[in-house]
Amino acid sequence: MALLEGIDEVRRFIEEKKVRYFKSEEFVCKCGCGRVLIDSRLILLLDALRDYLKKPVVITSAYRCPSHNRTVGGVSNSEHVHGLAVDIACTSSRDRYDIVKFAMGNGIERIGIAKNFVHLGLDEEKPHPVLWHYYHRK
Ligand SMILES: [Zn+2]
Repeated sequence: MALLEGIDEVRRFIEEKKVRYFKSEEFVCKCGCGRVLIDSRLILLLDALRDYLKKPVVITSAYRCPSHNRTVGGVSNSEHVHGLAVDIACTSSRDRYDIVKFAMGNGIERIGIAKNFVHLGLDEEKPHPVLWHYYHRK
């Protein structure tokens, strides 16, 4: 099972797989509830992406509890609520290119492009492959 639930399970995975650049806390819901659910494939992908970019990868959103997802205006069935997505801070065109290239080359088939982040999702029950934008958002 690829889904890790709870901070201890995430921490154990990070130790076991010798993930170099990320701590378990970075995947926890940002509302303060302390909950986390994350697909381990995303953790490994981010660690490899960090090596590829040769610069820090900042997670702006990983797991979101349903309440936090509503607060931030996420779609109700968001991949974030199921632990199947991460948003990575990105405002440079060059970084955006590298992130998307790396993601596509590593099996990511759901990618969203926003003004200041890139969304990478794994939910196979949603349409894929797809590359969307958030132009309607301010
Ligand atoms: Zn929360």
